[in-house]
Amino acid sequence: MNIVMLGPPGAGKGTQAERIFAQFGWKPISTGDIFRVALAEGTPLGLEAKKYMEAGELVPDDIVEGIVADRLKKPDVKDGFILDGFPRNLHQAKALDKMLEESGGKIDLVINITVDTETLVKRLSGRRVCRKCGANFHLLFNPPAVEGICDHCGGELYQREDDNEETVRTRLKVYEELSEPVVSYYNPSGRLLSIDGTGTPDEVYMEIHAAIELASGGAAV
Ligand code: AMP
Repeated sequence: MNIVMLGPPGAGKGTQAERIFAQFGWKPISTGDIFRVALAEGTPLGLEAKKYMEAGELVPDDIVEGIVADRLKKPDVKDGFILDGFPRNLHQAKALDKMLEESGGKIDLVINITVDTETLVKRLSGRRVCRKCGANFHLLFNPPAVEGICDHCGGELYQREDDNEETVRTRLKVYEELSEPVVSYYNPSGRLLSIDGTGTPDEVYMEIHAAIELASGGAAV
């Protein structure tokens, strides 16, 4: 199954994509993660993306669309993929349709996770990420057993540069202006399902699981 995850930064798209992957094996593709790896490796792509990411702005469409088009040609997505953080505006949504048209694929389900702004600001500014395995923690809501250390692999926890409050507010504004129209774009397709993302990760996953079951006619579960 091919899934698009929509929702503002901090809604839990990445966490839920990992859970879907663990159960069904459909590959999560996070454009934000691709940029962060490129940045950490100091590649030309990373250096180009850096200025946009640090400001909380979107990286130009031609760059992101090229990366996704290449990624969707890799063999590990042939049984299914979960796009997290793409498409982020209407141009990207239409570009994705074109890519899929050319490859004969389609999007089976669009999951839109909704969370109110103040909760998102709290979630993002307290978020800590493992440098080694990418696991997410939160200083208040999901603290690690030992401060600064990942429970899963012992890696160092850090705060993403764009998770400071000022950049978070810019990212949420960019989402509202550019990404919310993407929700309306998918709405008439009948494949869009909006889910309240304010519950615990388990509660949200239960709803997502039910949506997958419905979209697959019971075949996926
Ligand atoms: P994320 O991890 O999804 O919050 O993405 C972090 C940052 O990467 C965003 O604030 C953007 O600067 C950049 N980015 C990720 N995905 C996209 C995209 N589809 N289009 C443009 N920029 C993106």
